[in-house]
Amino acid sequence: MSKPSLLFVSSEVYPFAKSGGLADVAHALPRALNAEYTLEVCMPLYSFVEREKYAIQKRMEHFDISMGGVHYPVEIYGCNYEGIEYRFIDSALLCEREYMYGTPEEGYADNALRFGLFAYAVVALLKEEKQDIVHLNDWQSALVALLIKEDTSIKTKSLFTIHNLAYQGIFAHSYLHALDLDTKHFAMDAIEFYHQISFIKAGIAYADAVTTVSKRYAQEILTPEFGCGLEGFLKHHKNKLSGIINGIDTEHFAPAFSDLKGKAQKKKEYLKEVSLRGVKKPLFVFIGRFTWQKGMDLFLEALESMAAYECNIAILGQGESVYTTKLQELAHVHKNIHLSCTYDESLSLEMYGAADFLLMPSLFEPCGLNQMIAMHYGALPLVHHVGGLKDTVQSYKDFDDTKTKAYGIAFKSPNLTAFLGAFEEALELFANKREYNKILKHNMLCDFSWDKSAKVYSKLYKIITQGEKL
Ligand code: ADP
Repeated sequence: MSKPSLLFVSSEVYPFAKSGGLADVAHALPRALNAEYTLEVCMPLYSFVEREKYAIQKRMEHFDISMGGVHYPVEIYGCNYEGIEYRFIDSALLCEREYMYGTPEEGYADNALRFGLFAYAVVALLKEEKQDIVHLNDWQSALVALLIKEDTSIKTKSLFTIHNLAYQGIFAHSYLHALDLDTKHFAMDAIEFYHQISFIKAGIAYADAVTTVSKRYAQEILTPEFGCGLEGFLKHHKNKLSGIINGIDTEHFAPAFSDLKGKAQKKKEYLKEVSLRGVKKPLFVFIGRFTWQKGMDLFLEALESMAAYECNIAILGQGESVYTTKLQELAHVHKNIHLSCTYDESLSLEMYGAADFLLMPSLFEPCGLNQMIAMHYGALPLVHHVGGLKDTVQSYKDFDDTKTKAYGIAFKSPNLTAFLGAFEEALELFANKREYNKILKHNMLCDFSWDKSAKVYSKLYKIITQGEKL
């Protein structure tokens, strides 16, 4: 029997383009599924993607996509990279930009057209290649679910994954016409959202199954606190919604050491490199986007008090300038804070390797990869117990070496007292080397790979292609 075919669609895929966890997932999940499926991964060919490095070549002659009476020329490129087939959508409107979605401050004004065009191009590819399943990710590809339901010649089943409900792709009503969408879709049970159009609603309403990236987040988004205004709509589609936890690519995220002695050496090297003093002091790191979701306000509120303790704090990230400026001020005043305002994959790996603790005070977290990478690299995560952080990090107070769960320090409410309380617990635990090392070693042996979750996705693909009830 031939293998089922799968088109995995994402607006970012590591190593071609990455702004966050979605790119890691789009890199690693297809690898875990590749043996079972005839699989292609599809993304935009942003102008900054290195075509020569990855031997990206034209695969389909140029064609036009018409939206709202305007013709947009599109080309399809492809490559095989490390055993995975990639398809890239190239069109000036979509791809000729400095960033993928917009500057750190705001999204591009024409994102509706850009990612509308992306969706139409994916549909053209599906018509040509006739995959059994299309796996769509986040609002940028959500419209595909609607477009293929409109076209009776397409038999492909769709699965839509929400990686972060806070980003919905909401645009002015006028784009309905500019995207050639029938006015019947401008309804509350379709893509209308407070008199605007919502791309993410297209994925939720029309996909055959909807997933999000942890079981906890799948429950949280049904509440007003985390539902971002879509809790009622999601509740309506609850029967086809489930949570599947992300994994990490353990081949890519492979520590350059195998024991705690090796880790201690990495810490020493890193501290020297960034001129932080005191190898014996605990090293806390923060790696991530400087944005409210990641708990930046709380982090900034706490940072001064944290720096007053005997410890080092290293921060790597990029994002909103209000946060960057405040971090720069604090790093200037406190000698034990080191700040790297850049996006640097290899530096991030050095930091995971060197760290004793990872700080992750996120206000909400659909899954979060940082905490898993950290635990794999022998750094204890200190997390706000929410979403995927709650599913992947158990409190060290419940430590049980016989369990396959991984452990860290958790605080329940995102406020200063709770965060600083957890920080003090971390200092105390660090001082108890025997206990601390025991947890660390246990975590490093835990399975963070994609193996289990890839099987769950596979099962879901099978259910939707066989038309079984979810
Ligand atoms: P997000 O909400 O940003 O997707 P995740 O925790 O799911 O958060 O994934 C973040 C990914 O991006 C991790 O692989 C993390 O190491 C990486 N990352 C974030 N910021 C940076 C940075 N400035 N430099 C290098 N890697 C980064």
